[in-house]
Amino acid sequence: MEILITNDDGIYAEGIFALAEALKKVGNVTVVAPDTQRSAVGHAITITDPLRVVTARRNGKFFGYAASGTPADCVKLGIKAIMKKKPDLVVSGINLGGNQAYNILYSGTVSGATEGALLGIPSMAVSLDTFVNPDFRGSAAFAAKLAKLMKTKALPHGTLLNVNLPNLPARRIKGVRVTTQSLTCFNDWFDKRTDPHGNTYYWMTGDYKPKDSDKKSDLNALRAGYISVTPIHFDLTNYAFFGELEKWGL
Ligand code: MN
Repeated sequence: MEILITNDDGIYAEGIFALAEALKKVGNVTVVAPDTQRSAVGHAITITDPLRVVTARRNGKFFGYAASGTPADCVKLGIKAIMKKKPDLVVSGINLGGNQAYNILYSGTVSGATEGALLGIPSMAVSLDTFVNPDFRGSAAFAAKLAKLMKTKALPHGTLLNVNLPNLPARRIKGVRVTTQSLTCFNDWFDKRTDPHGNTYYWMTGDYKPKDSDKKSDLNALRAGYISVTPIHFDLTNYAFFGELEKWGL
């Protein structure tokens, strides 16, 4: 099994290393990832600049290809320029920070997997729901388990798996829930500050703990101590409203 790995935290992040180590036991791993932090770039691709690619070493050994682009760029590059064989699986992560609810839209991690799905390859994004004291071991082991399962199962075209894990020791994780994307918005705002030269700048911050009454949601699964697996797709058409719009007489 050929596996392409990317992320948005950059090729030197802790999470992608843990993921690659775990997936090496499942198949042949090729890492193509951004050469720097690219979180929250969404599905951006690079069209006005060239993409530079250099080899990256970790712990003194060849680890993968570091590209001067976004996660979506990296998956395109991996499949269309770097790998000799088309991958059987694309895995993006392990992200530092959850990618649940509307985070999915901003997430570079999820977009790496979305690009894989766009290109017709089974894909998943894996994120660890914490920004402090991450322990990627459990997430990496679960990603490997799911990768093995994906060898035998099929996803519908255009569908990918968005996996989020609570940052808990294995014995405290209650199980796995198949979830829906929470439709709860985070309440964010801007801190207005002054730099040392007297100029105004803004820094986004907010309350990232909104209430969600949907028991099936990714947000609530994580809060209850479950691993969340959401099947998502990128068909943005609202079919339920389609007929109504047709009646507008446009
Ligand atoms: Mn990230």
